Amino acid sequence: MAALMLNRPNYTRAEREAQRILDDMRVVTPPVNPVEVAKNLGVEVVFATFSGKSRGISGFYDCEENAIFVNEEEFPLRQTFTVAHELGHSVLHGDWARSADYQVMWRDPTRQNQDFREKEANAFAASLLMPRDMMDEYWDRLSLQQMSRLFAVSVPAMKNRLSFLYGV
Ligand SMILES: [Zn+2]
Repeated sequence: MAALMLNRPNYTRAEREAQRILDDMRVVTPPVNPVEVAKNLGVEVVFATFSGKSRGISGFYDCEENAIFVNEEEFPLRQTFTVAHELGHSVLHGDWARSADYQVMWRDPTRQNQDFREKEANAFAASLLMPRDMMDEYWDRLSLQQMSRLFAVSVPAMKNRLSFLYGV
């Protein structure tokens, strides 16, 4: 029972950590630039060409270098999300990111395992790029497309966030 509870994603913590970082940086208006946020936390972001077997990777966090490597051939908005997701691992899952269990982010989402840490990193990314306070200000005045442009996220990512926060 206890083990089951430990393996459940803690979305509240993911959101709180993202909000704390934005508050510290005094970021109050969209769009949030996750590369700037990473830099501010001392994490380097490297956009690189992935070749061979690595072609299928969106990005990964290298704890030795304290750097996030992003596949520059991905759609720009997907790169943004990858940076925010991997930053989530660095903030929330430092020890695990050092372990053999850590997994890169795959371009094909069906390859991704469903570890609770992946869900937490996604929640962190959504909260960082689409913070609740900023969403509250705009969501009932703008269309889905306008929201996705304003926050510089993909339409599906914005759709998920709207559904999660407001049930729409
Ligand atoms: Zn991940």
